[in-house]
Amino acid sequence: TEKAYQFMVRTRIPGGAITAEQYLAHDDISNQYANGTIRITTRQGLQLHGILKGDLKPAIASINEALLSTLAACGDVNRNVMACPAPTSSRAQAQVQEIAHKIAMHLAPRSQAYHEIWIDGEKIETPTTTPEEVEPIYGPTYLPRKFKIAVAFPGDNCVDIYTQDVGLIAILDGEDLAGFTLVIGGGMGMTHGKTETYPRLATPLCDIKPEEALKVIETIVTVQRDYGDRKNRKHARMKYVVEERGIAWFKQQVEDRLGYTLREPSPVHLHDVEDHLGWHQQADGRWFLGLHVQNGRIRDIEQLQLKSGLRAVINSYQPGVRLTGQQNILLTDIQAEDREALEDQLRSYGIETDPSKVGSYRFAMACPSLPTCGLALAEAERALPDVMQQLDVPLRELGLDGEPLSVRMTGCPNGCARPYMGDIGLVGRSKNLYNVYIGGDRPNARLNTLYATSIHTDKIVETLKPLLSLWKAERQPQESFGDFCHRIGVEQLRERVASVASP
Ligand code: SF4
Repeated sequence: TEKAYQFMVRTRIPGGAITAEQYLAHDDISNQYANGTIRITTRQGLQLHGILKGDLKPAIASINEALLSTLAACGDVNRNVMACPAPTSSRAQAQVQEIAHKIAMHLAPRSQAYHEIWIDGEKIETPTTTPEEVEPIYGPTYLPRKFKIAVAFPGDNCVDIYTQDVGLIAILDGEDLAGFTLVIGGGMGMTHGKTETYPRLATPLCDIKPEEALKVIETIVTVQRDYGDRKNRKHARMKYVVEERGIAWFKQQVEDRLGYTLREPSPVHLHDVEDHLGWHQQADGRWFLGLHVQNGRIRDIEQLQLKSGLRAVINSYQPGVRLTGQQNILLTDIQAEDREALEDQLRSYGIETDPSKVGSYRFAMACPSLPTCGLALAEAERALPDVMQQLDVPLRELGLDGEPLSVRMTGCPNGCARPYMGDIGLVGRSKNLYNVYIGGDRPNARLNTLYATSIHTDKIVETLKPLLSLWKAERQPQESFGDFCHRIGVEQLRERVASVASP
């Protein structure tokens, strides 16, 4: 008999926007074929874990029946396109969502193989003679590595724009979208002990009009297709092409292929990372409610029936559903008169609707890691709740418990929860051991810095505590923990902590 192999299935959801029916379909599929939980990913997709090999085909076919797809949610192609999910303001907000969808469709692989294998099993006759005709953008060998794109709304970096291969930052003209500033060559992943690998922030490339977006992005993809490293997968992301050949070389390549000169990039100002939690009014007068989901894991536990509660409310009110890059969920298009009853219903399942009561976990994220990720070196999703609980003690003692503090933990240096950004990054090295990074900024426009290596899970908070004390004692008005650490510098912080420990 064959072993009971189990799989993860990830749905591609551009901009994290799905309908109530599509959400409920995932809920059903998670019960029928997976381990009964749904996980919101850090790229606004949905993952189902624990699907047995024999159930893969019906599970994927059911996702397609809900008019969604797993095509290009994995693999060496363009992955899920992120976009600011909040339907708060103007027409431009809808246009940002729309462009994310268009980019996703434009860069989706054209091969019919996916449908042949997963949907109806029929071999579809295509009139192709060469592989190039099947994949006009990717060609016969696809990309050297995965490719990531996100679209940000001005000022708000909720999609972590500098960690993307291509980031589009919207430029507005009143209520309308006037264009984008493009940044390219960002990426998080690295490999411990391999200096040719590193996290990198995207570099400004140019400004474009909305109608140029598809062609310019396609052209950037072809440069990576042709110049990305195909010998060493750990060095194959586009960030290494941009870093090693230079942004001027890259721009020239794009211009040569386009046949025209790109405009200079405008300065970009991102003031914060909005998590969109709580109640907000939409442009059309209706409301949306952002709910915190710890590590993006939607499940029922004794004190919090999140999965049942979301199912009940989404069933009753049929709201739009949006997933955020911080792994939270927004219920949209809610009438003012329904707000109170909807909140009451959520509370009856133990679901907190007031973001100010979420506590220090509000800005924390962990990747799935063990037991479902084959690349994991250490725990993340299962370890972070304990770490955060321990961290609450010094935060409370120091009177810092209301401060926004972004903590990101991953089970390996691939960095799926983007741990090289934010106030504190915890990156797994081996069982129970983590590298500790500090010093990112609030808008996620600066990488954090390695502070300590191979810290045991039980010592993480002990390692951070003296830094929190120094922050409390010496911070400038409103200075975040990351900004404080960056201002003082890791070298000096290490020296000061050591001198306090052994005066
Ligand atoms: Fe797996 Fe590493 Fe990604 Fe975590 S960061 S999900 S351990 S690959």
